[in-house]
Amino acid sequence: MIGSGFGSAFFLHEFVRRRNARVLVPEWGRHNTHEWQLEHGSNSDIQDEETYSSNASKPWNYTIGLGGGTNCWFAQTPRFHPNDFRLKSLYGIGLDWPISHDDPEPFYCEAKAVMSILGDPDMAAVMPRSQPFPQPPHRMSAPDRMMKAARPDEHFVMPTARARVATEQRPACCASLRCWLCPADAKFTANNGLMHAFENPDVSVCLGWEVRRFGHAGSSVHLVIFSSGRSGRDPWRQHRTENKPTPVISKELVM
Ligand code: SF4
Repeated sequence: MIGSGFGSAFFLHEFVRRRNARVLVPEWGRHNTHEWQLEHGSNSDIQDEETYSSNASKPWNYTIGLGGGTNCWFAQTPRFHPNDFRLKSLYGIGLDWPISHDDPEPFYCEAKAVMSILGDPDMAAVMPRSQPFPQPPHRMSAPDRMMKAARPDEHFVMPTARARVATEQRPACCASLRCWLCPADAKFTANNGLMHAFENPDVSVCLGWEVRRFGHAGSSVHLVIFSSGRSGRDPWRQHRTENKPTPVISKELVM
């Protein structure tokens, strides 16, 4: 698996539970613990401008490091409406998905349990779900209450991964709203919720491996070209592998 952000972390969480297989995870960044992030006021030691280059005027920034975007997100967790899967046939725009809402719905619920998502049970009237939200909704603000009074069937507390109730790993949210780097660690991140997947003995995480290109034969990727050596003296990496820092060097990994 290339990278260790949301997609990889959740895939790995389920894969190592079901399969007896070894997994290699090359990750460009290093492991920046929540404590490190708070101390340095940043989600990553790699600056935004180093993450992407483009002639477009829109800046594209990525959080590089173990857990990827789980570190910096604001933990809003709306899910797709069933009609989102049928945009073409219902509204004549975009494309219909080859699956319906009911296909991924059980997996939405599993992911929401991992993240201890909170939400408004009333929402099920317009956004059907097979399981209740793991946590009760946040208390509404004054504008929220006014909107709810005006449109009770259409206004709901946004589902989020900012814990309303403390979990084993996370304290309750205190609504200070600097969620890109939560001081309380109330927001779900890979650091506080999915480290078990990366620490599985069948999983090898290679920090400081920046994958640059793939090689392919037919329709299969069989080669990964990466550079390594950026992770420096990363305590987690040293704990896992006892590796010494290595110089940046391009390498090929034949799959
Ligand atoms: S405690 Fe504050 S920063 Fe953390 S999730 Fe809640 S509102 Fe966001």
